[in-house]
Amino acid sequence: MNRSIVSLWTTLQKAPAREWASYRSAMAAAFTSRIAWGAAQRAWGTVREAFMVALPPSLAIGAVGFVVAVVGAPSGAAVLDASHPAGTAGPADPATFGMQGVPTLSQVPIVPAKVGVLIFSKTAGFRHDSIETGVAAMKELLAPTCVVEATEDSAAFTPANLERFRVVVFLNTTGDVLDDAQQQAFERFIEGGGGYVGVHSASDTEYDWPWYGRLVGAYFKTHPAIQEAVVRNESKDHPSMAGWPAELKRTDEWYVYRTNPRSVKGMMILASLDESSYTGGGMDGDHPTSWCHEVGKGRAWYTGGGHTKESFAEPLFRSHLKGGVEWAGRRAGASDAAPPAAQPAPAR
Ligand SMILES: [Zn+2]
Repeated sequence: MNRSIVSLWTTLQKAPAREWASYRSAMAAAFTSRIAWGAAQRAWGTVREAFMVALPPSLAIGAVGFVVAVVGAPSGAAVLDASHPAGTAGPADPATFGMQGVPTLSQVPIVPAKVGVLIFSKTAGFRHDSIETGVAAMKELLAPTCVVEATEDSAAFTPANLERFRVVVFLNTTGDVLDDAQQQAFERFIEGGGGYVGVHSASDTEYDWPWYGRLVGAYFKTHPAIQEAVVRNESKDHPSMAGWPAELKRTDEWYVYRTNPRSVKGMMILASLDESSYTGGGMDGDHPTSWCHEVGKGRAWYTGGGHTKESFAEPLFRSHLKGGVEWAGRRAGASDAAPPAAQPAPAR
């Protein structure tokens, strides 16, 4: 009897202990769950708040992109392909893009994107004393529509760095200026949609790089003394020839080329020299001096002018260069000047 009572007492004594243990662990689990639930609720609140804050600017940025693409395209710098800009649209107006709401399209400021242009003037052979003048002139005339950088460092020719530019100008370069890796980077840049502009001795550059020879269109052979010559405008509708008369007398160092670029398929001749107007023509009466064509998804434009410092002060030579950069800055197949079929030599 006593044993049974003791046993029962022991059981009763232990029972609450076990229950208390269960209760405690249940309470602990509930407490932990409550903390986790609270944290999850707070996290969701943060996410939702961030989304609500980010939403109006996102819509606004989208609207800016839409307006720049639709309204800005036909005007100013946006005639150049805005899908590959070096600069960006200007900063959003904080008053317009606050939490007050999404601005209407008419409230969004329109800032056309600027185009990245790299001017490369490294010389491994003859060095023109007009290079500094030419770089300064091009920076000045391109400033309204382009972000211009100038360098003589071939280390600029890496895939990542070239990506920042739309057009690379070879301004009076000479000789072997790029190594194999730099050449490969430049080939990819052009074939992928980049633009090339060659000025004067750009054709006296990289003789051992066949791809470059095709890009520039013809290599330099020789030249007579600097003198005045008649330059014929062969493509009056081209942006680089706009405003030129049918025949323009100008003074420069007129290159003779090893081959005639007119014989290259897809080449558009922009200007040629009247060999009867000066001494030392050297190309049997058909003497192109400026031309352009498409290479892969990119474009190449060349002018034989630009030997003298004075060239870069001539309004028509400056508009010629500017138009060349603008044309080269558009991708292959752009509407303004699709490559024509092989052009016949002008009647003479
Ligand atoms: Zn020269």
